[in-house]
Amino acid sequence: MTDTARKTLLITGASAGIGAACARLAAPDYDLYLNYRSDDAGAEAVKADCEAAGAKVTLLRADVSDPQALARMFDQIPRLDACINNAGIVAPTAPVAAYDHDRLRQMFDVNVIGAIMVARDAAAKMDGPGVIVNVSSAAARLGSGGQYVDYAASKAAIDTFTKGLGDELAADGIRVMSVRPGLIDTEIHAKGGEPGRAQRLAHMVPMRREGSAEEVARPILFLLSDGASYMTGSFIEVTGGR
Ligand code: NAP
Repeated sequence: MTDTARKTLLITGASAGIGAACARLAAPDYDLYLNYRSDDAGAEAVKADCEAAGAKVTLLRADVSDPQALARMFDQIPRLDACINNAGIVAPTAPVAAYDHDRLRQMFDVNVIGAIMVARDAAAKMDGPGVIVNVSSAAARLGSGGQYVDYAASKAAIDTFTKGLGDELAADGIRVMSVRPGLIDTEIHAKGGEPGRAQRLAHMVPMRREGSAEEVARPILFLLSDGASYMTGSFIEVTGGR
């Protein structure tokens, strides 16, 4: 790849929230593969904004928890310089006593198995130095008792995976990091049955406010950059101090 060639970046979960903010920020510098599960209108809107900023954009509709869909998705990606492994879900707020097998299966299929398979296949598309940023959560540290312990545990798995994969790939020049957002103002809370959750809990944040998707996207873009060239196998927190 020449110095002037644009880099290629895959973002999973790019039709909304943090993934969409990452795409819009990255568009001036990267050609983009934007994955999403079902929100065609959201994905098209992100694509239009990114193309207006100069990016070549390929939309890839695929459920990251479906191995066949993921295989078809990666068939459409010739090579990658970077991946933001962001797709994730919450389930409705409930104590562990109320969990059933289906809930846990879905949570871990998407947030853990899907993310690990995306990272595996993204790394295989990197034919030189590369970067993978996994989107974890401060929940990995907080545990989220009474809210969604399953989600917190899934994100703790991502942090451990980040350390292990970072160790495995360091000698190949591929860095692996994770970001732990705190309370961020996106639609994920409403999807989990708690619209307004970020605003409602903002008083628990030392900065006394929720974060925006762009405030998470900026540190993620930093981790992709040469400014983070000696960072791998670790994580940064983006939590307003929480
Ligand atoms: P969001 O606004 O709900 O967006 C989620 C994105 O992920 C959407 O593009 C969605 O696609 C996609 N997605 C969900 N399940 C998918 C699947 N199985 N396959 C492919 N794509 C899938 O959520 P967000 O707040 O931006 O969250 C992004 C990441 O940040 C998640 O990993 C989340 O756990 C993490 N995070 C968020 C917060 C927060 O407070 N918002 C805090 C900590 C960590 P469709 O809409 O097309 O289905």
